[in-house]
Amino acid sequence: MGEGDESQRETPVKVRPQPGAKRTKRILVTGGAGFVGSHVCEYLVNRGDDVICLDNFFTGAKDNIKHLVGKPNFEVIRHDVVEPILLEVDQIYHLACPASPIHYKYNPVKTIKTSVLGTLNMLGLAKRVKARFLLSSTSEVYGDPLQHPQTEDYWGNVNPIGERACYDEGKRVAETLSFDYYREHGIEIRVARIFNTYGPKMSLDDGRVVSNFLAQALRGTPLTIYGDGKQTRSFQYISDLVQGLVTLMDGDHTGPINIGNPGEFTMLELAEMIKEVVTPLLPSDVPAPSIVFKENTSDDPQKRKPDITKAKTLLQWEPKVALKDGLAMMIEDFRARLGV
Ligand code: NAD
Ligand code: UDP
Ligand code: UDP
Repeated sequence: MGEGDESQRETPVKVRPQPGAKRTKRILVTGGAGFVGSHVCEYLVNRGDDVICLDNFFTGAKDNIKHLVGKPNFEVIRHDVVEPILLEVDQIYHLACPASPIHYKYNPVKTIKTSVLGTLNMLGLAKRVKARFLLSSTSEVYGDPLQHPQTEDYWGNVNPIGERACYDEGKRVAETLSFDYYREHGIEIRVARIFNTYGPKMSLDDGRVVSNFLAQALRGTPLTIYGDGKQTRSFQYISDLVQGLVTLMDGDHTGPINIGNPGEFTMLELAEMIKEVVTPLLPSDVPAPSIVFKENTSDDPQKRKPDITKAKTLLQWEPKVALKDGLAMMIEDFRARLGV
């Protein structure tokens, strides 16, 4: 048989996808070891996507994702989004950024670098690989709002040189960058303005109000209300947020879109509700938790409530979990971690 005998050569196997077959999506979740990110990773892994969780573990925890580690469609990269990175992905959920005021004020310059340089890098990555990019923006872009409830066309009332500015202005620049990459480079962007969210896996010492009050009540220490407690927030349960983010990402609308629960509560009402839910769980010899008032922080927004007309009409999304029900689900996780 001569060398030129074609019939004896190995034929390379060419595998073509079946018509209509869906390829598994490769999805990057920055900040994937944090509170929101770990729930997003869990949802996507269970859906069957290939998920890369990227985190520098500033406020995130390995504990949040330990149940996913070892699954064939999940991997973790320790990396700081302030530095460039080369990856091949189809979608990017860009969540990396400290979100609790005590964390983002701890190193404000790093916070603003994370929002600005981190978002620039992730948009650069999205541009190179033609990935769809979702920014987790925040209701903080409305600052101390002069319009109530807040619609997406409200431009906000932010103090650009205040202690919260590293976060608020950082996110506002992140939104600007996202829309500039969309207009200039045609990147598929999605911008979610997330309102206060709570749920299992929030860090016990996170510093945000729901986790503070719950941990304080379960430990039998007084609930710390900052200021007079008449300021309001609207609290959304984590499963509603995850559903909202995924629906936004997979849909056709860039946003910005408010993702939040319009139920509005003063901090006094929240404290009373948490006392009511936790007190029956305490041993009979432990007195019901009390309340102490502490000085408020500067530039604290006085009221906040999302107008979610856009999410309802464009995404057919709305939150389902009422505050009391969400708190009951979160308590199980906090009791287990606090050992009470
Ligand atoms: P979180 O602090 O629990 O999670 C943030 C994650 O980002 C952590 O795992 C942290 O280690 C990581 N991270 C921070 N800086 C990083 C960096 N430079 N490089 C890589 N990773 C970094 O906070 P969260 O509540 O899960 O918030 C997630 C995102 O959602 C944030 O972008 C936040 O601004 C946004 N958001 C959250 C809420 C809320 O109520 N939870 C409201 C509005 C917006
Ligand atoms: N970038 C990245 N990963 C990539 C592509 C880009 O981290 O796969 C970073 C890149 O280092 C740059 C930023 O994203 O700092 C913006 O990239 P772009 O290509 O948009 O701008 P340029 O590099 O031209 O400034
Ligand atoms: N707050 C409070 N006690 C706490 C923590 C926070 O009264 O232990 C108040 C805080 O002053 C603010 C509201 O609760 O008015 C929400 O604060 P959080 O840090 O949860 O979120 P954000 O201010 O970013 O909305």
